[in-house]
Amino acid sequence: MLQEIINKKDMSAAVRLISQASSVAIVAHMSPDGDAMGSSLAMSIFMQVLRKSPVAVVMPNRCPQFLSWMPGCDAVVYYDSQQQEADVILREADLILCLDFNTAKRVGQMEKALLESPAKKVLIDHHIEPDDFADVVISHPEASSTSELVFRFICQSGHFSDISLTMAQCIYTGMMTDTGNFSYNSQNPELYNIVAELMRIGINKDEIYDKVFNTYSPDRLRFVGYCLYMKMKLYKIDKVQKVALIALSRQELMRFNFQSGDAEGIVNMPMQIGSVVYSCFMREDVDKIKISFRSQGDRPVNEFAQDYFNGGGHKNAAGGEFYGKLEDAVNLFEQNFRKSFT
Ligand code: 5GP
Ligand code: MN
Repeated sequence: MLQEIINKKDMSAAVRLISQASSVAIVAHMSPDGDAMGSSLAMSIFMQVLRKSPVAVVMPNRCPQFLSWMPGCDAVVYYDSQQQEADVILREADLILCLDFNTAKRVGQMEKALLESPAKKVLIDHHIEPDDFADVVISHPEASSTSELVFRFICQSGHFSDISLTMAQCIYTGMMTDTGNFSYNSQNPELYNIVAELMRIGINKDEIYDKVFNTYSPDRLRFVGYCLYMKMKLYKIDKVQKVALIALSRQELMRFNFQSGDAEGIVNMPMQIGSVVYSCFMREDVDKIKISFRSQGDRPVNEFAQDYFNGGGHKNAAGGEFYGKLEDAVNLFEQNFRKSFT
Protein backbone atom coordinates (compact mmCIF):
# COMPACT_ATOMS: atom_id res chain seq x y z
CA MET A 1 0.00 0.00 0.00
CA LEU A 2 1.45 3.37 -1.02
CA GLN A 3 1.39 6.36 1.27
CA GLU A 4 -1.27 8.82 0.12
CA ILE A 5 1.05 11.82 -0.36
CA ILE A 6 -1.40 14.01 -2.32
CA ASN A 7 -3.49 15.82 0.26
CA LYS A 8 -7.20 15.03 0.34
CA LYS A 9 -8.32 18.60 -0.33
CA ASP A 10 -6.28 18.93 -3.55
CA MET A 11 -7.22 15.43 -4.58
CA SER A 12 -10.95 16.03 -4.25
CA ALA A 13 -10.73 19.47 -5.90
CA ALA A 14 -8.89 17.96 -8.89
CA VAL A 15 -11.25 14.98 -9.09
CA ARG A 16 -14.23 17.36 -9.03
CA LEU A 17 -12.82 19.46 -11.91
CA ILE A 18 -12.15 16.30 -13.90
CA SER A 19 -15.65 14.97 -13.32
CA GLN A 20 -17.20 18.31 -14.35
CA ALA A 21 -15.16 18.50 -17.57
CA SER A 22 -16.01 17.06 -20.92
CA SER A 23 -13.12 18.23 -23.12
CA VAL A 24 -9.65 17.91 -21.60
CA ALA A 25 -6.33 19.24 -22.88
CA ILE A 26 -3.02 18.12 -21.45
CA VAL A 27 0.09 20.25 -21.73
CA ALA A 28 3.71 19.87 -20.63
CA HIS A 29 6.95 21.81 -20.93
CA MET A 30 8.94 22.86 -23.98
CA SER A 31 11.34 20.26 -25.39
CA PRO A 32 9.35 17.50 -23.71
CA ASP A 33 11.48 14.82 -22.07
CA GLY A 34 10.54 11.28 -21.04
CA ASP A 35 8.71 12.50 -17.95
CA ALA A 36 6.78 15.27 -19.73
CA MET A 37 5.73 12.78 -22.43
CA GLY A 38 5.17 9.89 -20.04
CA SER A 39 3.01 11.79 -17.57
CA SER A 40 1.00 13.50 -20.35
CA LEU A 41 0.38 10.40 -22.44
CA ALA A 42 -0.55 8.32 -19.37
CA MET A 43 -2.97 11.05 -18.26
CA SER A 44 -4.49 11.28 -21.71
CA ILE A 45 -5.20 7.53 -21.75
CA PHE A 46 -6.63 7.84 -18.23
CA MET A 47 -8.92 10.67 -19.39
CA GLN A 48 -10.15 8.42 -22.22
CA VAL A 49 -10.83 5.66 -19.67
CA LEU A 50 -12.95 8.23 -17.80
CA ARG A 51 -14.80 8.84 -21.11
CA LYS A 52 -13.74 12.46 -21.45
CA SER A 53 -14.08 13.72 -25.00
CA PRO A 54 -12.30 15.20 -26.77
CA VAL A 55 -8.94 14.58 -25.08
CA ALA A 56 -5.85 16.18 -26.61
CA VAL A 57 -2.18 16.36 -25.67
CA VAL A 58 -0.64 19.65 -26.79
CA MET A 59 3.12 20.11 -26.55
CA PRO A 60 5.04 23.31 -27.32
CA ASN A 61 7.33 21.36 -29.66
CA ARG A 62 8.31 17.87 -30.68
CA CYS A 63 9.92 15.30 -28.38
CA PRO A 64 13.20 13.64 -29.36
CA GLN A 65 13.00 10.71 -31.77
CA PHE A 66 13.88 8.17 -29.05
CA LEU A 67 10.49 8.82 -27.40
CA SER A 68 8.40 8.65 -30.57
CA TRP A 69 7.47 4.98 -29.93
CA MET A 70 5.48 6.00 -26.85
CA PRO A 71 1.78 5.06 -26.90
CA GLY A 72 -0.26 8.02 -28.13
CA CYS A 73 2.74 10.02 -29.35
CA ASP A 74 1.40 10.08 -32.92
CA ALA A 75 -1.70 11.99 -31.82
CA VAL A 76 0.16 14.80 -30.01
CA VAL A 77 -0.53 18.30 -31.35
CA TYR A 78 2.53 20.56 -31.56
CA TYR A 79 2.17 24.25 -30.91
CA ASP A 80 5.15 25.26 -33.05
CA SER A 81 3.82 23.58 -36.20
CA GLN A 82 0.02 23.36 -35.55
CA GLN A 83 -0.63 26.60 -33.72
CA GLN A 84 -4.16 27.22 -35.04
CA GLU A 85 -5.36 23.77 -34.07
CA ALA A 86 -3.62 24.00 -30.70
CA ASP A 87 -5.13 27.44 -29.98
CA VAL A 88 -8.63 26.08 -30.60
CA ILE A 89 -8.01 23.05 -28.35
CA LEU A 90 -6.72 25.20 -25.49
CA ARG A 91 -9.47 27.81 -25.86
CA GLU A 92 -12.30 25.29 -26.02
CA ALA A 93 -11.13 22.85 -23.36
CA ASP A 94 -13.12 22.68 -20.12
CA LEU A 95 -10.03 21.56 -18.27
CA ILE A 96 -6.29 21.79 -18.89
CA LEU A 97 -3.97 19.43 -17.03
CA CYS A 98 -0.54 21.06 -16.71
CA LEU A 99 2.11 18.42 -16.20
CA ASP A 100 5.81 18.50 -15.35
CA PHE A 101 6.30 22.28 -15.17
CA ASN A 102 6.05 24.82 -12.37
CA THR A 103 5.84 28.11 -14.23
CA ALA A 104 3.83 29.05 -17.34
CA LYS A 105 7.04 30.40 -18.90
CA ARG A 106 8.18 26.78 -19.37
CA VAL A 107 5.64 26.19 -22.16
CA GLY A 108 7.39 28.81 -24.33
CA GLN A 109 5.31 30.20 -27.21
CA MET A 110 2.22 28.47 -25.81
CA GLU A 111 2.22 30.54 -22.59
CA LYS A 112 -0.30 33.16 -23.75
CA ALA A 113 -2.79 30.61 -25.09
CA LEU A 114 -2.51 28.63 -21.86
CA LEU A 115 -2.96 31.59 -19.52
CA GLU A 116 -5.76 33.17 -21.55
CA SER A 117 -7.77 29.98 -21.86
CA PRO A 118 -10.95 30.09 -19.75
CA ALA A 119 -10.46 26.39 -18.92
CA LYS A 120 -9.98 25.28 -15.32
CA LYS A 121 -6.40 24.21 -14.72
CA VAL A 122 -4.87 21.49 -12.60
CA LEU A 123 -1.10 21.44 -12.20
CA ILE A 124 0.68 18.22 -11.26
CA ASP A 125 4.44 18.64 -10.95
CA HIS A 126 7.63 17.96 -9.03
CA HIS A 127 9.58 21.22 -9.52
CA ILE A 128 10.04 23.59 -6.59
CA GLU A 129 8.02 26.77 -6.06
CA PRO A 130 5.14 26.46 -8.53
CA ASP A 131 3.42 29.62 -9.83
CA ASP A 132 -0.21 30.08 -8.92
CA PHE A 133 -1.80 30.17 -12.38
CA ALA A 134 -3.67 26.88 -11.83
CA ASP A 135 -6.92 26.32 -9.90
CA VAL A 136 -5.49 23.25 -8.19
CA VAL A 137 -1.77 22.79 -7.59
CA ILE A 138 -0.45 19.33 -6.77
CA SER A 139 3.25 19.98 -6.26
CA HIS A 140 5.63 17.40 -4.82
CA PRO A 141 9.30 18.30 -5.33
CA GLU A 142 10.27 15.20 -3.39
CA ALA A 143 8.75 12.97 -6.09
CA SER A 144 11.08 11.30 -8.58
CA SER A 145 8.98 12.43 -11.51
CA THR A 146 5.62 13.77 -12.55
CA SER A 147 4.91 10.30 -13.91
CA GLU A 148 5.21 8.90 -10.37
CA LEU A 149 2.71 11.56 -9.26
CA VAL A 150 0.35 10.59 -12.08
CA PHE A 151 0.49 6.98 -10.85
CA ARG A 152 -0.23 8.13 -7.29
CA PHE A 153 -3.01 10.43 -8.50
CA ILE A 154 -4.72 7.62 -10.37
CA CYS A 155 -4.41 5.28 -7.37
CA GLN A 156 -5.64 7.87 -4.89
CA SER A 157 -8.64 8.59 -7.09
CA GLY A 158 -9.56 4.91 -6.79
CA HIS A 159 -8.66 3.90 -10.34
CA PHE A 160 -5.63 1.65 -9.87
CA SER A 161 -7.44 -1.18 -11.64
CA ASP A 162 -7.91 1.05 -14.70
CA ILE A 163 -4.17 1.39 -15.31
CA SER A 164 -3.66 -0.26 -18.68
CA LEU A 165 -0.44 -1.58 -20.17
CA THR A 166 0.02 1.52 -22.32
CA MET A 167 -0.49 3.80 -19.30
CA ALA A 168 2.00 1.71 -17.34
CA GLN A 169 4.57 1.97 -20.16
CA CYS A 170 4.23 5.75 -20.20
CA ILE A 171 4.51 6.04 -16.41
CA TYR A 172 7.57 3.78 -16.28
CA THR A 173 9.31 5.73 -19.06
CA GLY A 174 8.88 8.98 -17.12
CA MET A 175 10.12 7.49 -13.86
CA MET A 176 13.08 5.84 -15.58
CA THR A 177 14.23 8.90 -17.53
CA ASP A 178 13.82 11.43 -14.69
CA THR A 179 15.94 9.28 -12.36
CA GLY A 180 18.65 8.36 -14.90
CA ASN A 181 17.43 4.77 -14.84
CA PHE A 182 17.01 4.93 -11.06
CA SER A 183 20.46 6.34 -10.32
CA TYR A 184 19.40 9.68 -8.74
CA ASN A 185 16.22 11.02 -7.04
CA SER A 186 15.47 7.38 -6.54
CA GLN A 187 15.95 6.67 -2.84
CA ASN A 188 12.28 6.36 -1.95
CA PRO A 189 11.58 2.63 -1.47
CA GLU A 190 8.02 3.18 -2.67
CA LEU A 191 9.33 3.83 -6.19
CA TYR A 192 10.13 0.15 -6.41
CA ASN A 193 6.66 -0.80 -5.21
CA ILE A 194 5.32 1.30 -8.08
CA VAL A 195 7.75 -0.32 -10.54
CA ALA A 196 6.65 -3.75 -9.28
CA GLU A 197 3.01 -2.83 -9.86
CA LEU A 198 3.81 -1.58 -13.36
CA MET A 199 5.61 -4.86 -14.07
CA ARG A 200 2.61 -6.84 -12.83
CA ILE A 201 0.47 -4.83 -15.24
CA GLY A 202 2.81 -6.13 -17.91
CA ILE A 203 5.54 -3.64 -18.79
CA ASN A 204 8.84 -5.02 -20.00
CA LYS A 205 11.26 -2.66 -18.28
CA ASP A 206 14.33 -3.93 -20.11
CA GLU A 207 12.62 -3.39 -23.45
CA ILE A 208 11.66 0.16 -22.48
CA TYR A 209 15.27 0.86 -21.44
CA ASP A 210 16.43 -0.45 -24.81
CA LYS A 211 13.92 1.65 -26.76
CA VAL A 212 14.91 4.83 -24.94
CA PHE A 213 18.65 4.51 -24.41
CA ASN A 214 19.89 2.22 -27.20
CA THR A 215 18.55 3.88 -30.33
CA TYR A 216 21.19 6.49 -31.09
CA SER A 217 22.79 7.12 -34.46
CA PRO A 218 26.51 6.55 -35.18
CA ASP A 219 26.85 10.36 -35.40
CA ARG A 220 25.58 10.71 -31.83
CA LEU A 221 28.14 8.24 -30.49
CA ARG A 222 30.98 9.98 -32.30
CA PHE A 223 29.60 13.26 -30.97
CA VAL A 224 29.85 11.93 -27.40
CA GLY A 225 33.44 10.90 -28.10
CA TYR A 226 34.23 14.39 -29.39
CA CYS A 227 32.61 16.07 -26.36
CA LEU A 228 34.60 13.99 -23.87
CA TYR A 229 37.92 13.84 -25.69
CA MET A 230 38.14 17.31 -27.16
CA LYS A 231 35.77 19.57 -25.26
CA MET A 232 35.56 18.64 -21.59
CA LYS A 233 37.21 21.25 -19.35
CA LEU A 234 37.84 20.55 -15.67
CA TYR A 235 38.19 23.25 -13.02
CA LYS A 236 39.36 22.59 -9.46
CA ILE A 237 37.17 23.99 -6.69
CA ASP A 238 39.31 22.64 -3.87
CA LYS A 239 42.05 20.07 -3.36
CA VAL A 240 39.90 17.21 -4.64
CA GLN A 241 36.63 18.38 -6.10
CA LYS A 242 36.20 19.50 -9.67
CA VAL A 243 33.65 21.13 -11.94
CA ALA A 244 33.28 20.00 -15.56
CA LEU A 245 32.18 22.10 -18.51
CA ILE A 246 31.44 21.04 -22.09
CA ALA A 247 30.43 23.87 -24.45
CA LEU A 248 29.62 23.38 -28.13
CA SER A 249 29.12 25.85 -30.93
CA ARG A 250 26.50 25.48 -33.65
CA GLN A 251 29.27 24.64 -36.12
CA GLU A 252 30.49 21.76 -33.96
CA LEU A 253 26.95 20.41 -33.64
CA MET A 254 26.45 20.58 -37.41
CA ARG A 255 29.66 18.61 -37.93
CA PHE A 256 27.97 15.68 -36.17
CA ASN A 257 24.58 16.19 -37.88
CA PHE A 258 23.09 17.08 -34.49
CA GLN A 259 19.45 16.05 -34.01
CA SER A 260 17.15 16.90 -31.14
CA GLY A 261 17.87 14.43 -28.34
CA ASP A 262 21.51 13.86 -29.32
CA ALA A 263 22.71 15.88 -26.32
CA GLU A 264 20.66 13.77 -23.93
CA GLY A 265 22.71 12.43 -21.02
CA ILE A 266 26.04 13.99 -22.03
CA VAL A 267 25.93 16.39 -19.08
CA ASN A 268 25.86 13.36 -16.75
CA MET A 269 28.98 11.76 -18.19
CA PRO A 270 31.67 13.91 -16.49
CA MET A 271 30.01 12.99 -13.17
CA GLN A 272 31.48 9.51 -13.73
CA ILE A 273 34.86 11.01 -12.79
CA GLY A 274 35.29 10.45 -9.05
CA SER A 275 36.32 14.04 -8.29
CA VAL A 276 33.67 15.79 -10.43
CA VAL A 277 30.79 17.05 -8.30
CA TYR A 278 29.25 19.60 -10.69
CA SER A 279 28.82 19.34 -14.44
CA CYS A 280 27.63 21.83 -17.04
CA PHE A 281 26.80 21.27 -20.71
CA MET A 282 26.16 24.19 -23.10
CA ARG A 283 25.15 24.10 -26.71
CA GLU A 284 24.45 26.85 -29.18
CA ASP A 285 20.84 26.52 -30.34
CA VAL A 286 19.37 28.53 -33.22
CA ASP A 287 18.39 31.52 -31.09
CA LYS A 288 19.93 30.87 -27.69
CA ILE A 289 22.46 28.92 -25.70
CA LYS A 290 20.80 25.93 -23.99
CA ILE A 291 22.41 24.91 -20.73
CA SER A 292 22.17 21.84 -18.50
CA PHE A 293 23.57 21.42 -15.00
CA ARG A 294 24.08 18.39 -12.81
CA SER A 295 25.48 18.03 -9.29
CA GLN A 296 26.14 15.32 -6.80
CA GLY A 297 24.56 14.94 -3.37
CA ASP A 298 23.75 17.95 -1.27
CA ARG A 299 24.96 20.58 -3.76
CA PRO A 300 22.07 22.49 -5.34
CA VAL A 301 22.53 23.69 -8.93
CA ASN A 302 19.00 24.97 -9.53
CA GLU A 303 19.74 28.26 -7.74
CA PHE A 304 22.80 28.87 -9.93
CA ALA A 305 20.71 28.10 -13.03
CA GLN A 306 18.09 30.58 -11.83
CA ASP A 307 20.53 33.33 -10.80
CA TYR A 308 22.69 33.35 -13.92
CA PHE A 309 20.88 31.51 -16.73
CA ASN A 310 17.13 32.34 -16.51
CA GLY A 311 16.47 28.78 -15.50
CA GLY A 312 15.74 26.46 -12.62
CA GLY A 313 14.95 22.84 -12.01
CA HIS A 314 15.80 20.32 -9.34
CA LYS A 315 18.58 20.28 -6.76
CA ASN A 316 20.79 17.91 -8.76
CA ALA A 317 19.47 18.45 -12.28
CA ALA A 318 18.73 21.92 -13.57
CA GLY A 319 18.89 23.91 -16.77
CA GLY A 320 18.63 27.35 -18.25
CA GLU A 321 19.11 29.58 -21.26
CA PHE A 322 21.44 32.37 -22.29
CA TYR A 323 20.66 34.91 -24.98
CA GLY A 324 23.99 35.92 -26.45
CA LYS A 325 27.24 34.42 -27.68
CA LEU A 326 28.48 31.03 -26.55
CA GLU A 327 31.76 32.54 -25.35
CA ASP A 328 29.85 35.03 -23.18
CA ALA A 329 27.83 32.20 -21.63
CA VAL A 330 31.10 30.36 -20.92
CA ASN A 331 32.61 33.53 -19.39
CA LEU A 332 29.55 34.08 -17.20
CA PHE A 333 29.83 30.48 -16.00
CA GLU A 334 33.58 30.67 -15.38
CA GLN A 335 33.33 33.96 -13.51
CA ASN A 336 30.58 32.87 -11.16
CA PHE A 337 30.58 29.16 -10.41
CA ARG A 338 33.16 29.37 -7.61
CA LYS A 339 30.88 31.65 -5.57
CA SER A 340 28.04 29.12 -5.72
CA PHE A 341 29.79 25.79 -6.06
CA THR A 342 31.59 25.10 -2.82
P1 5GP B 1 17.94 18.91 -18.79
O1 5GP B 1 19.31 19.27 -18.41
O2 5GP B 1 17.73 17.42 -18.74
O3 5GP B 1 17.48 19.54 -20.06
O4 5GP B 1 17.01 19.52 -17.67
C1 5GP B 1 17.09 19.11 -16.34
C2 5GP B 1 16.02 19.79 -15.53
O5 5GP B 1 16.31 21.19 -15.48
C3 5GP B 1 14.63 19.71 -16.15
O6 5GP B 1 13.93 18.61 -15.62
C4 5GP B 1 14.00 20.99 -15.73
O7 5GP B 1 13.49 20.85 -14.43
C5 5GP B 1 15.15 21.96 -15.60
N1 5GP B 1 15.32 22.86 -16.74
C6 5GP B 1 15.96 22.60 -17.91
N2 5GP B 1 15.95 23.69 -18.71
C7 5GP B 1 15.30 24.65 -18.03
C8 5GP B 1 14.95 26.01 -18.34
O8 5GP B 1 15.27 26.57 -19.37
N3 5GP B 1 14.25 26.69 -17.36
C9 5GP B 1 13.90 26.11 -16.18
N4 5GP B 1 13.21 26.85 -15.31
N5 5GP B 1 14.20 24.84 -15.88
C10 5GP B 1 14.89 24.12 -16.78
MN1 MN C 1 10.03 15.73 -14.67
